[in-house]
Amino acid sequence: MKVNYQEYQKSLSLTLDVSFISDTTKETAHAITRSGKANQGSLFLLALFICKDLEIKCPEIVTYSGHVPHKRRENRLCAQLFGWYKPATMHLHVYKFTAVQKKERAAKSVLNVFIHEMTHHIDNVKFGMPQSPHTKGFYRRMRQLENALK
Ligand SMILES: [Zn+2]
Repeated sequence: MKVNYQEYQKSLSLTLDVSFISDTTKETAHAITRSGKANQGSLFLLALFICKDLEIKCPEIVTYSGHVPHKRRENRLCAQLFGWYKPATMHLHVYKFTAVQKKERAAKSVLNVFIHEMTHHIDNVKFGMPQSPHTKGFYRRMRQLENALK
């Protein structure tokens, strides 16, 4: 996908103010990690709390299902897609099972993917950047959110 130059520049420079992330929100994230398993309800709740703290619209749909699709090249696992976010419908998805062994993914990994996709959602609704390119700025905002939930 071709990223518009202005959106790319904007994405590089923006930072996320995470000072309003509440203890309730942090506790919700901790509970997911502690339990060892995520579920659709707890991920949606966490999305709700983050969006309430940041005063932005919540994703319309949060789904947690299916197994990680993968492409094989010369019999080697070479690319994995762990989740996705669709800006037009504000649908956030995280895959539940591993690609090869079809086991439920660990809560910590699920949470990391969830935070990545939430950063796309924040770029979309808070900053008006639906394309939300993977710039250094994107990864900085993602780490800010990650650290705020610790
Ligand atoms: Zn991404």
